[in-house]
Amino acid sequence: MQGKLVIFSAPSGAGKTTIVQHLLRVFPDLEFSISACSRDIRRGETYGVDYYFLTIEEFKEKIANDEFAEWEEVYKDNFYGTLKSEIERIWRKEKHIIFDMDVVGGLNLKKQFGDKALAVFVMPPSIEHLEKRLKTRETETPESIARRMGKAEQELKTADKFDVIIHNDNLEKALEEAENIVGNFLKL
Ligand code: 5GP
Repeated sequence: MQGKLVIFSAPSGAGKTTIVQHLLRVFPDLEFSISACSRDIRRGETYGVDYYFLTIEEFKEKIANDEFAEWEEVYKDNFYGTLKSEIERIWRKEKHIIFDMDVVGGLNLKKQFGDKALAVFVMPPSIEHLEKRLKTRETETPESIARRMGKAEQELKTADKFDVIIHNDNLEKALEEAENIVGNFLKL
């Protein structure tokens, strides 16, 4: 079967991962799309759970072989992408797919899959709030925070291109809203 695609995009630190994890618990028909990436594995992450961690060479080989539904060099030398085989893997299980990806990748998939896809933008309360959240993550360095903040400002400008915007000023409310929106879309 070809299931549906639920795409969550937002600047880094806006809380999209928390929302996606919540939806995975609420909707058993949803499965998380594990992206491939070429960045270093962080403490607490597992291959094949968080990402398929590849070397830059392996990643580029898969680009050359046309194995990605979408891919992007999100940060210098840090490639991220969705493997076509990952979409097939989840559809074979008769499930719908939920994606956690940056805004360019999200809009790219939406364009390819049209009405089968729901593209959701998670809006953080403010840019200052994003920075604060990134600083509390032990995994970020001052350089990676600066890099992510620069990108976030650009990403906020793309919000109106998405099917829906969820304002994450209050996490409880955002989770409830996400549940309603995704629940309705899956029922269609
Ligand atoms: P992180 O390094 O924090 O795990 O992710 C960095 C950024 O890459 C985040 O915005 C994340 O959503 C995005 N990302 C993760 N997987 C993909 C993917 O498959 N494609 C694209 N385009 N971006 C992704």
